[in-house]
Amino acid sequence: MPRSPCETMDAFICGICGGQDRYVLSEVDGKTGRPLTTALCLRCAVAQVTPRPDAETLHTFYTQAYRETYKGVHRPKKKHIVRAVRLARERLDWLAPWLAPGARLLDIGAGGGEFVAVARARGFEAEGIEPHAGYAAHARAAYAAPVASAPLDALEPRPTFHLVTAFHVLEHLRDPVAALGRLTQWLTPEGALAIEVPNLLYRYAAPNNTFFAAHLFHFTPQTLAQTAARAGWATQATQVAGDGAVIRAVFRPGASPVELPPASLAAEITALYARRTWGRYLASPRVWRKSLARLGRVAEEYFWSWRCREAQDVIRRLA
Ligand SMILES: [Zn+2]
Repeated sequence: MPRSPCETMDAFICGICGGQDRYVLSEVDGKTGRPLTTALCLRCAVAQVTPRPDAETLHTFYTQAYRETYKGVHRPKKKHIVRAVRLARERLDWLAPWLAPGARLLDIGAGGGEFVAVARARGFEAEGIEPHAGYAAHARAAYAAPVASAPLDALEPRPTFHLVTAFHVLEHLRDPVAALGRLTQWLTPEGALAIEVPNLLYRYAAPNNTFFAAHLFHFTPQTLAQTAARAGWATQATQVAGDGAVIRAVFRPGASPVELPPASLAAEITALYARRTWGRYLASPRVWRKSLARLGRVAEEYFWSWRCREAQDVIRRLA
C-alpha cells in the first residue's frame, strides 16, 4: 500500500472504525477549490473528510445554507422537481418488494418532498423530515405533504413506520454509525431501512465531483454494509444504480458480523483516484455517452417544466 503524500496533518481517527492509518485521496474541495482533506481509512476502507466539522457548524449549514450553496436556491426549481419525481418513481419501483399496500413510510432528508408526494400518490402513508426550512415549507405548500422541518434528533421517535428511507443523507452526517443506530426507533418490528449513497468506486465521475465539504463520508457497497452492521443492521439487498454512480441498499434490524474488507479494496480505491485526471476523464467514450444521455434528460426536464404550471402538476402527470 502506498503511503500518503501528506504526513503533517492532524492525527487521523476514522469516524467509522476508529482506525488511525489513512491514505490521503484528495487535499482540495472539488466544488470550491479550497483546502479540504479527504482520507481513506486503511482499516475499514471508508473515505472521509478529516478533520470533520463540529456538530453546530453542520447544523447551521444544513438548516440555512446547504441548498443555496449547491443548487443556488432556497426552494426547488421546477426542473429540480421533475428530476426528483423521476428519481422517486425509480426508487419506489426498486423498493416495491418491501412495500405492502398502504404501508407507512418516513423519508429522512426529504428535500422538497417529491418522494413523499409520489409515495402518497401511489397510496402509501408517507411523511418526511427535512432540516432545510424552505424545502420543507415547499413540500407542505406544493403537495400538502407532511414534511416536518426539523433535525431528526429533535423529534420524538415513533416506532410506526414500515419503511424508513434516507436518500443521499448518510454521507452528510458527522457520525453515520450513531445515526443508523437511532433509526431503529422509527420502525415497526418487521420494518426495513433503505439507504442510497454515492458510490466511491464509480469510475466515470468528473474529477471535481467526488470530494467536497458536504460529503463527509464515502462508501462502497461493501463498506456501506459493514457500516450498517456496526449499527445493528443486516443487509437484505444491494443495487448499484445510476450507471454505477450510486449504491442502494435495504436493511433490517439484526445482528450481522462486522467484516473488515480485504486490503485489496483500499488498494483498488487508491489506484482509482491516483489515475483520475481531467485528461483521462475527457478521453473516455463512456463519459461522452453519459453526457449525451444527460442532455436528453435535461431536455425532458425543461419540457415538463414548461408543460406543468404548478409543482403539483408534475406529480399528477409523472408520478
Ligand atoms: Zn475506518
